[in-house]
Amino acid sequence: MQYLLNTYSRFDVEFVRGENATLWDKDDRDYIDFTSGIGVVSVGHANVRLSNAISEQASKIIHISNLYRISPQEELAEILVTKSGQNAAGVFFCNSGAEANETAIKIARKYGEVDGEIKRYKVITLENSFHGRTISTLKATGQTKFHKYFGPFPDGFEYAKDIDDIYNKIDEKTVAVMIELIQGEGGVNPFDIEKVQALEDKLKKQDILLIVDEVQTGIYRTGKFLASNLYGIKPDIITLAKGLGGGVPIGAVITRLTDVLKPGDHGSTFGGNYLSTRAGIEVIKILDEYKKSGQLKEIIEYFDNKLVEIAKEFPDKFDSISGYGLMKALKAHSTEIRDEVVAQAFEKRVLVLKAGIKAVRFLPPLTITKEEIDEGFHRLKEVLKSK
Ligand code: PLP
Repeated sequence: MQYLLNTYSRFDVEFVRGENATLWDKDDRDYIDFTSGIGVVSVGHANVRLSNAISEQASKIIHISNLYRISPQEELAEILVTKSGQNAAGVFFCNSGAEANETAIKIARKYGEVDGEIKRYKVITLENSFHGRTISTLKATGQTKFHKYFGPFPDGFEYAKDIDDIYNKIDEKTVAVMIELIQGEGGVNPFDIEKVQALEDKLKKQDILLIVDEVQTGIYRTGKFLASNLYGIKPDIITLAKGLGGGVPIGAVITRLTDVLKPGDHGSTFGGNYLSTRAGIEVIKILDEYKKSGQLKEIIEYFDNKLVEIAKEFPDKFDSISGYGLMKALKAHSTEIRDEVVAQAFEKRVLVLKAGIKAVRFLPPLTITKEEIDEGFHRLKEVLKSK
């Protein structure tokens, strides 16, 4: 590790192979993975269908640039538009969540342009949000702890405390509101569905764009294809990444605004290449079947019951459960308790995540089995009993 920049505090383990929600380290010790690489490995580790699709594609063409037509890119765009249930009509592909959000901000800024001048540019985001690590998406992220050292930032972002407070921040310069429906990194905090619907309504009336960051919530994470489907809304722009490629880097922006960006306005060398879009197609096929068969619903319920059990059994540690689908958290009474649980869980070989101030976050592969869930919660209980 000595040649790596010191940007992560890592657990001292190296995984050498995986199968669905189980990982093995180099001493062949097994770990239950309730993290899926932070919501990425949606179809599990070493998924045979995904790895076959990628290998087959790699043996033909991996990358060709966006100077030429790319058929899996066109196919994945059509799938996303069709499945989204939105007014969406077009997709831009990039490589990460931050890039998808950058693209969304650029679309909004250009939308705010009139006669060659940016008349409306302000993007309202929420406190406690997380939108990425590039300079603009960091500025869009309403958590000041991330802003230290990196200014000056681009102008034109303002933070609202919560959904209600967004109305107070709207002025004649406002072009867009960008929100997560369930704040992930912020601690797994879902917003009230009715409030979000009312916000959508109000913004539409004022011609202010609603951008929904579904980087973490998209692609069945909440049980629905998009969290926007769960919330019954049709945002102007939706951003995706994480679970879409099942581990192959990909970001996507779905929008109804197909005529805002013109050739030369935006682009990406890698975005939408053969490999990542082929992966995206296969991931969605796998998950569509999984959802249709009723297995996704069944596994979500199974996981939920285990969380309820734990919360009931250890009221001294946790006060509530939050989230939807397989994006869940146990809210601990304190940061210290949370940190201890996450660290001890690792020692018992079950991987869980931290989020916000007090959340133990669960983002397992959507294809996790009941046996893996049982084993993971069995290990977690051992941790909680020993404290
Ligand atoms: N938006 C949300 C809601 C996220 O959860 C994340 C990552 O955690 C991002 C954006 C940034 O995505 P990436 O790390 O792929 O740039």
